[in-house]
Amino acid sequence: MNNRIKEYCQKLNLSVIADQWSTLADQAAKDNVPYSSFLFSLLEAEVIEKQARATKTLLKLSKLPFKKTIDEFHFDVQPSIDERRVRELMTLSFIKNKENPIFLGPPGIGKTHLAVSIGLEAISKGYKTYFISAHDLIIQLRKADTEGKLEKKLRSFVKPSLLIIDEMGYMKLGSGDAHFLFQVIARRYEQGSIILTSNKSFGEWGDIIGDSVIATAMLDRLLHHSRIFNLKGESYRLKEKRNKDKQQTDS
Ligand code: ADP
Ligand code: MG
Repeated sequence: MNNRIKEYCQKLNLSVIADQWSTLADQAAKDNVPYSSFLFSLLEAEVIEKQARATKTLLKLSKLPFKKTIDEFHFDVQPSIDERRVRELMTLSFIKNKENPIFLGPPGIGKTHLAVSIGLEAISKGYKTYFISAHDLIIQLRKADTEGKLEKKLRSFVKPSLLIIDEMGYMKLGSGDAHFLFQVIARRYEQGSIILTSNKSFGEWGDIIGDSVIATAMLDRLLHHSRIFNLKGESYRLKEKRNKDKQQTDS
């Protein structure tokens, strides 16, 4: 019978139960554990392992550039941002409502850190998340277009529950590029959330995109259901470097 149990577990894709049932059964018999508790501990072990595996896969597919959480973000050095509004994002209600959080501000002040920490939270709750820089997004869409695979590529950017587009504004777009980006934003409109970070204000989008009609149409969709965060202040990297230099000269 023991072999059949293992075989049935494998058929049902219950690898943890297949491995552990016998040890847990011996223990349960010894401790006089009720049948329901025994069954519960078996199922729980399987569920925990399946969730851990799913999170690991989502994390790998997400292409997040690093793993930093919201607890590693120092709100005290970033007074331009309302901690409560950011914590609200961590509830992920914005994903359910298909809203777009947007982080604007100069380099080095934590835009990518915040986007990544929200991405990590989304992954831990089972949401498919994909991180890409605006630059790579355009390069990939250009390539797919020349290979006749644009439609498939566009669909891959529409599929995740959360798409993070980082560093919008560093790259000036050509007219074909603007159209690609518009397709991504228009297709995700009211279908799936985008987190966007940018060093440019919305007023400068016409310049980056090189076509004010497309820029307006894009912003219209992006901003309709959005939560905008304007970060101000000095680069965290520079501040950290200055503190280090100061410590060295002081000592
Ligand atoms: P941005 O995307 O705005 O250019 P980043 O998010 O890449 O900036 O931040 C630059 C570096 O500084 C990262 O290592 C980030 O973790 C760190 N950082 C920025 N702001 C904070 C903060 N308020 N608390 C902790 N680390 C921060
Ligand atoms: Mg950044």
